[in-house]
Amino acid sequence: MFWFKKEPKAAPALPAPEESSGLMRVMDTLAGLLREYGKGAFDIENVRMDTVRRQCERWAQHILVGSLRPGENAATAPLPLERRDFLGVRRFFAEKRTEESAAVTRTVGALHQSLWAALRALDGVVAGGDETDDLIGNEMIRLQTIAQDGTAEVIRREVLSVVSHMQQIGRDKALRQEKAVEELKTEVATLGQELEIAWHESAIDPLTRLFNRRAFEERCVQAMAMRRLFGDQSSLLMIDIDHFKNVNDTHGHLAGDAVLREVADVMVRTFPSRRDFVARYGGEEFVVMLWGGSLERARSAADRLVEAVRQHRFEFEKKLISVTISIGVAELQTGEESLAWAARADRALYTAKSEGRDRAVVAT
Ligand code: GH3
Ligand code: MG
Ligand code: MG
Repeated sequence: MFWFKKEPKAAPALPAPEESSGLMRVMDTLAGLLREYGKGAFDIENVRMDTVRRQCERWAQHILVGSLRPGENAATAPLPLERRDFLGVRRFFAEKRTEESAAVTRTVGALHQSLWAALRALDGVVAGGDETDDLIGNEMIRLQTIAQDGTAEVIRREVLSVVSHMQQIGRDKALRQEKAVEELKTEVATLGQELEIAWHESAIDPLTRLFNRRAFEERCVQAMAMRRLFGDQSSLLMIDIDHFKNVNDTHGHLAGDAVLREVADVMVRTFPSRRDFVARYGGEEFVVMLWGGSLERARSAADRLVEAVRQHRFEFEKKLISVTISIGVAELQTGEESLAWAARADRALYTAKSEGRDRAVVAT
């Protein structure tokens, strides 16, 4: 450096006053530069910003007043001007600049690498092929271009812009999904109604439009639960058309079907309450389940039904058909299973048949 020229052999001559003030200004400037440099220091891998700042201050002091250089501890008198280490200052400065520059290069390199890694990860995520993925794909191409040769500032700016764009895309997608979910909900509700109708249809006998045996079995489960939980009484009427085979044989199968439908109508008219459950058990057999009420009520209800069928005028193609029914009545016992309950009603029905038909018999 031009202000430092060592003359080891010659005795140091004091600088002339104007030389001295010029030299002081140069040294002040150098110390000032060192302090500014210290202020702008930043952390790098192995060196903390504070350390560099302290070292700069020590070098500034060394230049100005000859105090100890960074790293020296022994207390000595201030060094005269000619023994101050200007070369050491220069080396310190060069070393720090080299370290900083290497650190900056490494950081930018790491930034590029992270960006590439993020791009690869994103590429894996957006493989759905919908419109949103295309938009995100465009953003990724933009990022790839930047990742190749963008400076740190350009990368920072562009990544922020891409992120905000992607957030917008995400929000739009979320809105669309919300709408799709709403539509799906409506569809599910409609489907639910259709299912309800389908379920109802599956519980209905197509010929008589009464409940079928499956619905009856479900009703039995309910009756057992009500008996167990609340002690509710239920009675079962097992009904069979007498000599129905004769109806088919004499008047034909269509007449038989018409009779089945009409018997069903008579039953519904006799038991109009929703609490009383009327179903076709199968063939020419029907069931009525009376919910609540005594066995006595069940017995008189069965008698009324026998009477109603007997009194009904069955007519097919202008020909009268004589129709009677037999009924077995059984009240659900505590803890009784539905099969055992139905079997008792069935045995009572068999008794009614064997005692001459056209009557109701109560199970014991
Ligand atoms: P019982 O008094 O002992 O009950 O004599 P039954 O003739 O009624 O009894 P059986 O079991 O001998 O005959 C029942 C008949 O019911 C036989 C069958 O063809 C007829 N049947 C069953 N389902 C239907 C149907 O859906 N339509 C018609 N038309 N006939 C049916
Ligand atoms: Mg039968
Ligand atoms: Mg019969």
